[in-house]
Amino acid sequence: MSTEDRKLQILVVGAGLGGLSAAISCAIAGHSVHVVESAKELVEIGAGLQITPNASRLLKHWKLPDSFWETGAEPTALTVHRYSGQKLAEDRPFDQHTRSKYGAPFVDFHRCDLQQALYSRSVELGVTFSFGQRVESIDFSGPSALTDTGATFSGDLIVAADGLWSRCRESFLGGKDEPLPTGDLAYRIVLTTDQIKDPKLRAWVENPEVHFWIGPGAHVVGYSLRAGKMYNIVLLVPDDLPAGVARQTGSVDQMRKLFDGWDPILNEFLGCVDKVDKWKLMHRSEMAHWVNDDSNLVFLGDSCHPMLPYLAQGANSSMEDGAVLGSLLGHLKRKSDLPGVLRLYESLRKSRGEAIARETFKQRHDFHLPDGEEQRKRDEIFLSQLGKELKGPFPSRWTCPEVQPWIYGYDAIKEVEDAVARNPELFSNNAISSSPRPVL
Ligand SMILES: Cc1cc2nc3c(=O)[nH]c(=O)nc-3n(C[C@H](O)[C@H](O)[C@H](O)COP(=O)(O)OP(=O)(O)OC[C@H]3O[C@@H](n4cnc5c(N)ncnc54)[C@H](O)[C@@H]3O)c2cc1C
Repeated sequence: MSTEDRKLQILVVGAGLGGLSAAISCAIAGHSVHVVESAKELVEIGAGLQITPNASRLLKHWKLPDSFWETGAEPTALTVHRYSGQKLAEDRPFDQHTRSKYGAPFVDFHRCDLQQALYSRSVELGVTFSFGQRVESIDFSGPSALTDTGATFSGDLIVAADGLWSRCRESFLGGKDEPLPTGDLAYRIVLTTDQIKDPKLRAWVENPEVHFWIGPGAHVVGYSLRAGKMYNIVLLVPDDLPAGVARQTGSVDQMRKLFDGWDPILNEFLGCVDKVDKWKLMHRSEMAHWVNDDSNLVFLGDSCHPMLPYLAQGANSSMEDGAVLGSLLGHLKRKSDLPGVLRLYESLRKSRGEAIARETFKQRHDFHLPDGEEQRKRDEIFLSQLGKELKGPFPSRWTCPEVQPWIYGYDAIKEVEDAVARNPELFSNNAISSSPRPVL
């Protein structure tokens, strides 16, 4: 069988973290990959991103350079405080515990450093890009994607990686399909050490740790970026943006008022802020399928499983999707087996992506409890285990021994190896008349 019998022309829509991960993984698998992105270039937008072991092991697997890892900050502790500042839970040394449990680190990055590193790696692997092309619709007969400039891009397979506001999803579902409000919004803040004069706050930033403060209807997460030269703070509060407004410049005074009476150190950080943006947090209902009937469109990332950022898994799980898709396609023996392989991708990824999304809403419940009986019971569980080995269920899934292992312990590459071993007929050199049902 020649390479051409199996080599796919893959069109990825969206150069976000999921799309770039799919591009790298599909290129490593020996396919030809072109990415269409609506932005004119990959610009310095976004803020911090927590990369957990389930994705950091993929970044190692894809051989991202040392210069990229040096832009990260690896937290040595993960602490949950009550909004007053009282410590409720602490994992220290978090970096060592994480590495020894999962064989991969938990590292905080600036989103644009990660996106640039993934972009450079994909170019090295021969992936090509068209920027400034917003896909408007998909014609499944090709398949091909029509963009706002009138250009058409085609391939054997389209990977819908166009995020929360996915046009691919609308084409697939055959009509308008807006994301739904979650009821929360995020104030996103990035401070450089130049903006932080107080030596106590500077020391906090220069010694990377993750801190949560949890209170009625709201919580905050703060962590260092760029080797301790930057601090990222996200304030998660009830959504007061008008319907239909996804992002707006926020009032710094109004933001500070929301945290009156919270931990003094948090308020000292908020005192350093001179501008802030508000982002409406959106989600979507689950789709019945992530692959179309013609088996030439497949979904990943926020286009099919957006979630609350309360477990920092949106980007991590979209990278898992990209890794599983590309690795499975690396085992494809002939193009005619694509339907079976995509069915296997859907069955491996859909239940996990959706389960993580549901878990983020449970984390909101536990972090946002109003003061009262349920909150007191939660804090009793926290405090009874402070300084001890944790027992699940634990109210912070970030360190919960029941939840953390299934999120951080996931190895997308191994997942594929096991699935391929369970489905020898799908990946054999002998032609099969129709694609069999995958064995899970
Ligand atoms: C406040 C906040 C904090 C977060 N923190 C974390 C975190 O710590 N860890 C984590 O894992 N996740 C985090 N997330 C979630 C994470 O940002 C997303 O889940 C992740 O970026 C999804 O990746 P994606 O590639 O699916 O989509 P996106 O990153 O949205 O990428 C989609 C890409 O497609 C392009 N595009 C869109 N439409 C079109 C079109 N029609 N044609 C062509 N191109 C198009 C876009 O320009 C973009 O480049 C956070 C989210 C928020 C809001």
